[in-house]
Order: sequence, then C-alpha cells, then structure tokens
Amino acid sequence: MHRILTSRIEEDRVALTPEDFHHLVRVLRLREGDEFEAVTGDGHRFLCRLERAGTAWWGRIQRAAYDPRESPFRIHLAPALIKWERFEWILQKGVELGVASFHPILSERTSSTRHGGYCPRKLERWHRILQEALKQCGRGCLPRLEEPTPLAAVLERLAKHPIVFLDENTHRPLQQRVEELVGCQECLLLVGPEGGWDERERTLVRMKGVPPVGLGPRILRAETAAVAASTILQYSLGDLGRGISTPETPGESEREKPIED
Ligand code: SAM
Repeated sequence: MHRILTSRIEEDRVALTPEDFHHLVRVLRLREGDEFEAVTGDGHRFLCRLERAGTAWWGRIQRAAYDPRESPFRIHLAPALIKWERFEWILQKGVELGVASFHPILSERTSSTRHGGYCPRKLERWHRILQEALKQCGRGCLPRLEEPTPLAAVLERLAKHPIVFLDENTHRPLQQRVEELVGCQECLLLVGPEGGWDERERTLVRMKGVPPVGLGPRILRAETAAVAASTILQYSLGDLGRGISTPETPGESEREKPIED
C-alpha cells in the first residue's frame, strides 16, 4: 500500500500537496480510482481512493482507523553523533524498529572536524528521513527528534527513565539489564561514538547508579550497536516478532475504531 504523511484531512477527503501529487501520480504512477493510505503521524490512518476533476486531484476517504502500531515498550534512543550517513542509517532503522524518540548526543569524542558541521538544516533533513521511514514501514506515529546536546542534557531531559548504557568495556551482558527492565514501559538507550565514551561521560552515567552493559566480545560499529540493542530490547520487552498482526489496510485491523468528529 502506498502511503503519504499528511495533516490535510478535510471531512471525507484528503487534500494533496504538490509533493504528494508528484509522489503518487508522477513517481508511483497511481491512476484515478487507485487506493493509497494517508497517515497523520499521530496514529490515525485513512484508506483513500484517488480522484480528480480537471487538474485537481485528491484522495476520497474510504475507511478511517486509529491504528498507531506503536510498541508497548518505548525506547528513547540517544546515539552519539557519528559520520552523517551512518547516523542517518540509525534514524531510519530506529523508526522501523519502533524507537519512540531520538536524542542525538554531542559527545566528548564527537570529532569537530568530521561532525562539527552540524547545523539546523541537518535537523530538517533528519525529520525528512524519519517521515520517509514512517511511510515505508507503515508506522502510525512519528517519533520525536531532539536537537543534538551533550550527554548531561540528555540525562537531565530523560531523568525519570531507566538507562541502558552500552559500553564495550564491560563483561556485564545486556541480558542482565533486560531482566531488570521487565515490567518497565520505557528506557533511555545510550550509544557512544566511533571513538567510544570519554571517562567523564562514563562517570556521569555511573553517578546515576547505572552500570554499563555489553553486547558480547566483539566491538560493534556505533550504528550496529544502536540497531542491535534496539532490536534486542524491542524483542525482549516490546513488540518485535511477538505475534501482533500488522494489517496492510485500516479496514483489516482488529483494533479499528471509528473516527469521531
Ligand atoms: N572505543 C572503541 C574503539 O575505538 O575501539 C569503539 C567504540 S564503538 C565503535 C561505539 C559505541 O558502540 C560504543 O561506545 C558502545 O556504546 C557501542 N558498542 C560497540 N560495541 C559494543 C559492545 N560489544 N558492547 C557494548 N557496546 C558496544
């Protein structure tokens, strides 16, 4: 099912932006009468049929559902900034894996020459990556993305959540932390940069009473570690591979509820 992310729901139809029109009609070659799905990013989804009158196109709503497809376990992923394309890969895979929010870390070892080029336009690009990933995987809710900040600010922002601190310099396995988190509904997952955590950062987290945990004897690239740990947490405590059906269209959902005005 082809999808657009929109805020333009008008009674029984969805208005198309020029970008939506380009994507659906020019790129995907949808024709009048073809179906597509419009998601609003807050859990609502609308099955639509493409209609036109002259040069104007819109989607006529066939069915509406509230079907967010969110995991019951909310991972707040805080990866240190790494090389841009690898960082962006974390964002894309994180959306697919159901990460609830992203908190990029300007870590002590975030190299200023390789990563210093951070600017607000990056954030816009990252938002687009999240949106594209959401459309591709059929997720209903758009994860939050914060501006990059030092580790101390991330710890403060998410102070009430249990922490999973990934560090390759430990023998304590992630599994132990997973067992401690049974019954919790969310966690803050910290992943270091290419050069690893600085001692000051380790101390900051240790002061929270959180021991680091490891992903086995091999050193993973930062982006591999972020995706592997999110996968393990989501599998152990969330909805990955847990038998929750993921219907293709709103009408097939057992969770379907009528949308109220
Ligand atoms: N300091 C290391 C070095 O330069 O040899 C590498 C750091 S690693 C590439 C980047 C981050 O991924 C680490 O800070 C940690 O958060 C995570 N990581 C990688 N492998 C890990 C492992 N085996 N266990 C736990 N965390 C790991």
